[in-house]
Amino acid sequence: MSDYDVAIIGSGPSGIAAATGLIRAGITNIIVFEREAEIGGIPRHTHHQSFGMLVFKRPMSGPKYIKKLLKRCAGVRFETSTTVLAIQEGGVLDLTTPEGQKTICARHIVLATGARETPRHGRLISGLRPQGIITTGALQQFIYTGKMKPFQRPVIVGTELVSFSALWTLRHAGINPAAMIEENSRTTAYRPAALFARLLGVPIFYRSKVVDIADVEKLSRVEIENASGEKQSIACDGVIFSGKFTGDNNLAKASHMGLNRGTQFPLVDQNWISTDPNISVIGNTVHPADMGDQCYLEGLESGRKVAEKIGGNAPSGCQIPVEPGEGIRMTTPNMLRVGASKIVVSLNLHVTKAYSGPISVTYNGETLYKKRHRCLPARRITLKRIQLKGAVENTDLPLEIHLGE
Ligand SMILES: Cc1cc2nc3c(=O)[nH]c(=O)nc-3n(C[C@H](O)[C@H](O)[C@H](O)COP(=O)(O)OP(=O)(O)OC[C@H]3O[C@@H](n4cnc5c(N)ncnc54)[C@H](O)[C@@H]3O)c2cc1C
Repeated sequence: MSDYDVAIIGSGPSGIAAATGLIRAGITNIIVFEREAEIGGIPRHTHHQSFGMLVFKRPMSGPKYIKKLLKRCAGVRFETSTTVLAIQEGGVLDLTTPEGQKTICARHIVLATGARETPRHGRLISGLRPQGIITTGALQQFIYTGKMKPFQRPVIVGTELVSFSALWTLRHAGINPAAMIEENSRTTAYRPAALFARLLGVPIFYRSKVVDIADVEKLSRVEIENASGEKQSIACDGVIFSGKFTGDNNLAKASHMGLNRGTQFPLVDQNWISTDPNISVIGNTVHPADMGDQCYLEGLESGRKVAEKIGGNAPSGCQIPVEPGEGIRMTTPNMLRVGASKIVVSLNLHVTKAYSGPISVTYNGETLYKKRHRCLPARRITLKRIQLKGAVENTDLPLEIHLGE
């Protein structure tokens, strides 16, 4: 006997949206577990106007965005300061709550645990371990939530959208960064972002990486090395490692769910259902890291699909892998469920570096899609209306996606 129809793990835009989609479809016995003391995920700490354009047609701050989203799912039960420790087969969740450890059971689980930036240790950077080395997420918590200034003149490592979000956050606190450091020869975000840095007088060192961090008591400089092997020191009192997102996938990895061989993200089909038909995985857990609005819209749709499943329309058909070719970092879905009849799906992908040209999708030698796209790593590319005939015979045969002719 289940305690709930649906248990959602994570109260960011994706988790809130799944709850909203379910409520709208008439499924009310649901619960959302959130490990933080407050509901809202990443937008809670992001106070600049970078949310809401798709959902509300106007820009708004993260906290305001969450407040407006929550109005759409009044009545949903959220349990904060509650961490899900393990997912077991049969819809069982192990939790730690303010009252102690618990186990609950749900007919369906939605995993919406979001994405995180890669911190220093994940980037294998040499040197000492002084204070003042943080990610953008931590920076935003210091500045917006804690009203603290962790340093006066840091460097920002990376030029993804979130790196410019770090720049914006620093400016908000009156902090002038010493530099931005980028491994490639152009910014990972859209080019105008580099103009923003230039306007603020912040130099960007391209084709360079941090190779050493000095001092142990108080950070005073980092050493960078460019592609020709030349080194130079930059005086600074902090380092912000921004971007290089990874999905918060520890729960999935420790569970019985199937993972993609390359990315190690949970395998999800065109309806965000994992290899276990009673678990969905949504939002930046499976595509680190798309914009909040994209995660919200996807979460709504996934909630509707879960409601259909609970109403008796269970996912069926065989699972076939989606195999991204060279230059493609990830796709969502990363597998397809194909039954007896034809399916029509959209595929989202991210490239590893800027690319302009054809993208094709083939199955068993047949081209199902071919179109030119302009791709940047920061931009989600959607391949629409890919049709696959039903009754697939060989489930080892992947749907292949290629950049190039
Ligand atoms: C530093 C940073 C800045 C960003 N800035 C922007 C921006 O300006 N604009 C924008 O559109 N997007 C931004 N993003 C992208 C952001 O990830 C999305 O906007 C959005 O928050 C994704 O929603 P989500 O629900 O998938 O994940 P999240 O918002 O990350 O929510 C996941 C939630 O799951 C909870 N959780 C995780 N594990 C557990 C567990 N085991 N048990 C219980 N709860 C758990 C987390 O505490 C969190 O609240 C930013 C991302 C980062 C990391």
